[in-house]
Amino acid sequence: MTYDITIVGAGVVGTAIARALSRYDLNVALLDAANDVGQGTSKANTAILHTGFDAKPGTLESRLVRRGYQLLADYAARTGIPLERTGAVLVAWTEEELANLPALQDKAVANGYENCQRLTAEEVYAAVPDLGPGALGGLSVPDESIICPWTPSIAYATEAVDNGATLLLEHEVRAVDVHPGGTTTLHTTQGPVTTRWLINAAGLGADVLDRALGHDRFTVTPRRGELLVFDKLARPLVNKIVLPVPSKLGKGVLVSPTVYGNVMLGPTAEDLDDKTATGTSEGGFEFLRTKGEKLMPVLFEEEVTTAYAGLRAAIDHGDYLIDTDPDQRYLLVGGIRSTGLTSSMAIAEHVESLLQDAGLTMTAKVEVADPPLMPNIGEHAPRPYERGDLIAQDPAFGEIVCFCERVTAGEIRDALTATVPAVDRAGVSKRTRATNGRCQGFYCGANVDACITKHLQGAPR
Ligand SMILES: Cc1cc2nc3c(=O)[nH]c(=O)nc-3n(C[C@H](O)[C@H](O)[C@H](O)COP(=O)(O)OP(=O)(O)OC[C@H]3O[C@@H](n4cnc5c(N)ncnc54)[C@H](O)[C@@H]3O)c2cc1C
Repeated sequence: MTYDITIVGAGVVGTAIARALSRYDLNVALLDAANDVGQGTSKANTAILHTGFDAKPGTLESRLVRRGYQLLADYAARTGIPLERTGAVLVAWTEEELANLPALQDKAVANGYENCQRLTAEEVYAAVPDLGPGALGGLSVPDESIICPWTPSIAYATEAVDNGATLLLEHEVRAVDVHPGGTTTLHTTQGPVTTRWLINAAGLGADVLDRALGHDRFTVTPRRGELLVFDKLARPLVNKIVLPVPSKLGKGVLVSPTVYGNVMLGPTAEDLDDKTATGTSEGGFEFLRTKGEKLMPVLFEEEVTTAYAGLRAAIDHGDYLIDTDPDQRYLLVGGIRSTGLTSSMAIAEHVESLLQDAGLTMTAKVEVADPPLMPNIGEHAPRPYERGDLIAQDPAFGEIVCFCERVTAGEIRDALTATVPAVDRAGVSKRTRATNGRCQGFYCGANVDACITKHLQGAPR
């Protein structure tokens, strides 16, 4: 079978594109090397829904982050993706940073965001009382929000599959042949996949795939960001995102609440040459401890639950690299560095218009699936264990399997039987939070694995 469009990369960007294109009369395939959607950079980021106040004005990134903020906030409200509008305070710690604030405020306005307000040191401490000493002033960013990083990819992929798209996991593309007759063959680890149009949303692997198509236009540098996650007891200390003044090296180290009720400190920014180096490091921990003890010393009186790292796809180009090659029927979505979660739906919208401009016939389907209602894994709304109505209908929602995160057998069962199901413990964790709590699976891990085994034994082969 020949697909009309195949998207390589089922991260938050590729799944958003698949969702958008599945709403047309097109035969769409979404393909990834991993065994689940959202397993690359998309599973390990800082989970901020950015307003784009600090983007470089006039760039595609600035436009798509701004548009993506609105699109994803609306989609989250319709699907139940956990999102909290906490707002942010950007803090100046030096005279130089303080002097930069007016320019930052002007930049926000140039980016179409007019709600920033200058804050005195007293106002900064009124907003974040547990901040360390020495803050000189700040800027409020009232619409900056926190979001669940995992649910968007799963929701987008679910909607794409509901609309008839084919999800091909564990299909790593190793080589590509573009045929003059109008098709392209992707040679994957599970055999060839033939397509008319190819969209490269391969994140850290986008440069390799681009070269396989004969281009030589960019190199992806994996920029590691390590983060510490503090126990839920730390949560009352941090009700807003606390941002540093951004520098040439990026957005810098922030302190932020999470939608799961924790507090997060990070990320670092370290250029590596290994695209698989998602391990944390002693150096990263020391750096974060030094920064964090100045930012908010009381935070370090609380326990660290876990640490993790993600790799940004940095490229030597000051903007997203989204480009169409109509002769090859090929569209590159590259260099989606540190804002891709926010801009995902706007990138998809942009891709739709680029494909239309390139002459692809795109007829909207007469009937499309409603956006899926996703299980709530955030603290913004009642979780299943708190809902007597749900437990009365289905006692499995009253049976706690993971005590730290209050995850029930009903949620784990649903994760294993969903349209885009979890296939292992990592997949269950992303969909339910099971094993993510302070015991890190020490207590509940075996019970979660037993649920998976029981399901697999009962599942048709
Ligand atoms: C530390 C950190 C903090 C961040 N903070 C934020 C934030 O607060 N807010 C925000 O909006 N963004 C943030 N980001 C950025 C955001 O996470 C990324 O922009 C986004 O996840 C990129 O998604 P993607 O789909 O392009 O890439 P990915 O999620 O990496 O997806 C690419 C997929 O392509 C697949 N693939 C690659 N090569 C092949 C191949 N040859 N064959 C088959 N499959 C292949 C991979 O398996 C992968 O699943 C952050 C990133 C990091 C690392």
